[in-house]
Amino acid sequence: MRHLVWFRADLRVADNPALYEAAVAGARVSAIYIDSPGQWQQHGRSAMQRDFLSRNLQALAEQLAALGMPLTLLSAETFDEVPGVLSAWLQQHPQDALYANRELGIDERRRDKAVQQALADKMAIRVFNGDCVFQHGSLTTRSGDMYKVFTPFAKTWLAQLRATGYRLLPPPAAQGEPVTANAVELGGERVASDHWPAGEVAAAERLAAFCQQDLRDYGAQRDYPATEGTSSLSPYLALGVLSPNQCLAAMEQELDGLPMSRGEAGFVWLNELIWREFYRHLLVAYPRLSMSRAFKPDTDALQWSQDREGFVAWCTGKTGYPIVDAAMRCLNETGWMHNRLRMIVASFLTKDLHIDWRMGEAYFMSRLIDGELAANNGGWQWAAGTGADAAPYFRVFNPTTQGERFDANGDFIRRWVPELTQVPEKLIHGPHDWLDNHEMGHGYPKPIVDHKRARLHAIAMFDALKDPEVT
Ligand code: FAD
Repeated sequence: MRHLVWFRADLRVADNPALYEAAVAGARVSAIYIDSPGQWQQHGRSAMQRDFLSRNLQALAEQLAALGMPLTLLSAETFDEVPGVLSAWLQQHPQDALYANRELGIDERRRDKAVQQALADKMAIRVFNGDCVFQHGSLTTRSGDMYKVFTPFAKTWLAQLRATGYRLLPPPAAQGEPVTANAVELGGERVASDHWPAGEVAAAERLAAFCQQDLRDYGAQRDYPATEGTSSLSPYLALGVLSPNQCLAAMEQELDGLPMSRGEAGFVWLNELIWREFYRHLLVAYPRLSMSRAFKPDTDALQWSQDREGFVAWCTGKTGYPIVDAAMRCLNETGWMHNRLRMIVASFLTKDLHIDWRMGEAYFMSRLIDGELAANNGGWQWAAGTGADAAPYFRVFNPTTQGERFDANGDFIRRWVPELTQVPEKLIHGPHDWLDNHEMGHGYPKPIVDHKRARLHAIAMFDALKDPEVT
């Protein structure tokens, strides 16, 4: 018996249901990854993430080779070509069954349907849940619908965890002697990023270090971007180098049990993992989220601005709001941004500049090393007020007071906005008068928008949805 495992966003050998099930049956296992560079571009994903993908693929090939399982890299320009490329390869390398873990986006689901149709009468196809603790569609309201609000979803998720626990799978046993790993690195831009070592061993080390050092304090530390109070595991989770079950297991080991309710040490982190699951379950239940449509259909009628100048100022970190500018420059340089900052800059783009959240979502995707549709779309729609359980439309972050609260002495700002390094601590969030007086602006821009007025305009935009006569 020959089983083929098709790796996608699950680049790990441990806790990988498709790989585990393919191997446990005693079959001879080999593996493929199908690179789709054109699709990557169509999805607007970043060079930084592609580089990270490439390095993780190589690490995976080596892990698999040590188990005696060769990984072959195939290429199909776009998803449309995948069934043909796969069929042609299978003619040369016949298999009895194809194993894969489900992907959630609509394009991925359409690709998988086409593969299913092309191969169904030739071989068995088995698909698994590898990216969430509980399978999409398995947690529903009494009437069988997906939850639209986070809190009841989280309650049901926790009840399920209490009832069934989670299933953590070991890596498969080696099938004979190790083989030589194929070279599977992708072509493309090399982007140096020592901060993100590749492979599941590196991911496991980072997870263990986070649990030992920061998990207990996460609730108190997680909102301050100048400190490393969060796990920085998102790039690994986004490509499936790490699974959420592995996060639960590490947390359980560290705390001698899982925190199951608010107030228990570590619960705040668990809650973030549940947000991750919430957005993933939503993406499957509401295909329109994969199609740039608002979760709340009525908000599709919002009159967003197309202000190109404002958008460029936001992208390049030149809005004149120090915390926004520091955050955007950090993103541009590192491919990563702290969650508090993602909320601040997303609110600024949509509620201060009134620019379409889809433009921000796409820009994030083009820059992030952890870009993934469910969380990115969820985060943007939350900030814009168009999403499931979104921030109420009248709640508009004030970028100055957000800076004062979460980067009080301006350490984060000074790290990323060199024009402001000399500004005294108490003026760092409103430095313009001081810069004028000291002729030390070095070109740091004046605020491109008046927050108070912009806030009122944002509220009026949403009010107009209720009564189109009011604009
Ligand atoms: P931690 O705080 O340590 O959390 C652990 C893990 O939980 C994260 O790695 C992530 O997988 C998950 N998680 C945490 N917060 C959230 C959240 N609010 N929603 C969903 N999952 C969460 N996350 C991405 O992984 N990819 C994205 O493309 C992305 N885009 C975002 C866009 C916006 C506008 C906003 C507001 C949030 C976005 N997030 C995204 C969610 C969150 O900002 C990041 O997951 C988090 O900052 C990653 O840092 P960390 O690994 O240190 O997280």
